[in-house]
Amino acid sequence: MVPAHPQNGSCLSRKIVPVVRATEPNVSIFGVEECSDKTEFHLNAETNTELMRVAQLGSGTPEIAVVAGVHGDEPCGVRAVERLLDEQPQVRRPVKFVIANEAALERRVRFVDEDLNRTFPGDPNAKTHEGRLAHELAAELEDCLTFSMHSTQSHSEPFAIVNGVSETVRELVPQLPVTAMVETSEFAEGRLFSTIETLEVECGLQGSEAAAQNADRLTRAFLTAVGALPGDTMPRELPVYRLTEVIDKHEADTYEVFAENFTEVDAGETFAAADGEMQVAKESFYPVLMSPYGYRNVFGYAAEKIDVLAAQSAAD
Ligand SMILES: [Zn+2]
Repeated sequence: MVPAHPQNGSCLSRKIVPVVRATEPNVSIFGVEECSDKTEFHLNAETNTELMRVAQLGSGTPEIAVVAGVHGDEPCGVRAVERLLDEQPQVRRPVKFVIANEAALERRVRFVDEDLNRTFPGDPNAKTHEGRLAHELAAELEDCLTFSMHSTQSHSEPFAIVNGVSETVRELVPQLPVTAMVETSEFAEGRLFSTIETLEVECGLQGSEAAAQNADRLTRAFLTAVGALPGDTMPRELPVYRLTEVIDKHEADTYEVFAENFTEVDAGETFAAADGEMQVAKESFYPVLMSPYGYRNVFGYAAEKIDVLAAQSAAD
């Protein structure tokens, strides 16, 4: 279904065409079909802020999408997408690429008005930039299996975040170069994968070169696993964790985290401190996305280990 854009008449969701060659002068690698009214192209008429960039490799209607920049202070995925579009590899099935929160990326902030990944499904008449963007992005990704890249302040090794362990998840995630999978259905509200079938990956530490390189490897592995790029993946054994609780953080000036993510904290162990006040585990848990300053109100999450997925053959 082609979504309507009554509020601004932009062609945001109708511009999906094969990406132009990057060698052409003065053409963005996100080269897209131009609207008849160039002044409205890509722009949100209300705020004059570019909502998102969309491009495609291959012809036909994509059932696969790669999304970067849901958070504006996580540039790793953007670099991976730009590099791939610059390279223009031959694809065996069409793939859509979206750079999501352009305005936040430009300002190098997580979001402009509110966290986009807590705002889905969004609303075309939302008062916030992200509220409108969530609606546009959901419309853009409708019917696409989506791969969305993030980065954190908590863990340098890539891991996957999923909303339920579906057959698709079981098949694809062990083929990605990740060290763990985190199931977050208890905390899915407002996230992209509450609206669109999505695999999220955390590529590494925010702003690091390693995260950008991981994003590149992860994207290629995903596109290989879904048959868009040729070649084989390297399936691996994968521990699966389920988020069970938020670990609150009291208001304080300084925070410390002593626990290692994905390494079990025993009952009675001190795992964090707020202004020197020790936080002791009542029960054992696996810390996930834990960092002193990554989130405003919480240290991160407690998880339980629920499964280990065996490395399956990529042949079937
Ligand atoms: Zn993020």
